Amino acid sequence: MIIDLRSDTLTKPTPEMLQAMMQAEVGDDVYKEDPTVNKLEEHIAHLFGMDAALYFPTGSMTNQAAIKIHTQPGEQLIADKYAHVYNYEGGGVSFNSGVSCKLVDGHRGMITAEQVEENINPPDFYHSPLTSLVCLENTTNKGGGACYDFREIVKIRKVCDEHGLGLHLDGARLWNALVATDESPKDYGEVFDTISVCLSKGLGAPMGSVLVGKQKFMDKAMRVRKVLGGGMRQVGFMAAAGLYALEHNWQRMAEDHRKAQELATALAAHAKVALVEPVETNILIFKLRPEVDELKFIQQLKEKQIFISALGKGKLRMVTHYDYTDAMHAHLLDLLSSKNL
Ligand SMILES: *Cc1c(COP(=O)(O)O)cnc(C)c1O
Repeated sequence: MIIDLRSDTLTKPTPEMLQAMMQAEVGDDVYKEDPTVNKLEEHIAHLFGMDAALYFPTGSMTNQAAIKIHTQPGEQLIADKYAHVYNYEGGGVSFNSGVSCKLVDGHRGMITAEQVEENINPPDFYHSPLTSLVCLENTTNKGGGACYDFREIVKIRKVCDEHGLGLHLDGARLWNALVATDESPKDYGEVFDTISVCLSKGLGAPMGSVLVGKQKFMDKAMRVRKVLGGGMRQVGFMAAAGLYALEHNWQRMAEDHRKAQELATALAAHAKVALVEPVETNILIFKLRPEVDELKFIQQLKEKQIFISALGKGKLRMVTHYDYTDAMHAHLLDLLSSKNL
């Protein structure tokens, strides 16, 4: 039994998902003639109550396209210091858009309306870059799967309106946040200009991300996707996996969240563990005691066919997902409560 908790991107399509993919009706999506991609885009636009949606190969490309659409070279966006768009997209913000990031020292990857306001450069002070966009992330990745308080997002929207800034959500794991908080996608559709969501994380599709947004931004999305090399042809096979995943794998995320909670409880009681960050969704970040060697701990787990990731600075991460079965969970809980680790 291999237990792989490095990421929720490691899931593989089930036979049922493969069946749905094989049966997809397809066409050339660059001509907008793939009925399954069109159906997925309409479904997601409708879900969020937004004007339009566009299918992309990856979440990074979706975020990068959004940033390109919202900004001009030389401008600046505001994001938390942990933001995926800043840390994990290969420097794409500067490479693709010629934009700089004003990083905010937020809490678990989340920033406040007050912090946004403080970090806006005065627009008539031409020495500093023009602030044009705010990027939020929900749930936060490096912040340990934390969920925003929606009331704070509404306050941030207000600040953006007062200062004429765009507001983009990196919602790679928004599906998890929606399950954990009982909020609806329409709440999000009302406050953001653009939202990116991933189909290949907790939902378990092999690939795909969708940008959903207001028409005036989405008008530019097809061109930007083409420029980034993301125009795909008979990709309805993959979109079918996304549609299948939304129908069958979304609400079950509550189970991933429960398992992450239970692992957190077991880890908190473990002699080698110094600290477990609060668990809100499917990501669990913990720290070992200073005298415990981190690499050795990971190696010991590896020898037992259990894989987790190191985030640096002594932080370790586990991510639960639908390929992490009840049997694996029982086995790992047993191991954590035994003296064998
Ligand atoms: C995974 C992820 C993305 C997109 O990643 P891709 O691997 O490019 O699909 C974007 N934002 C966050 C917060 C993520 O966790």
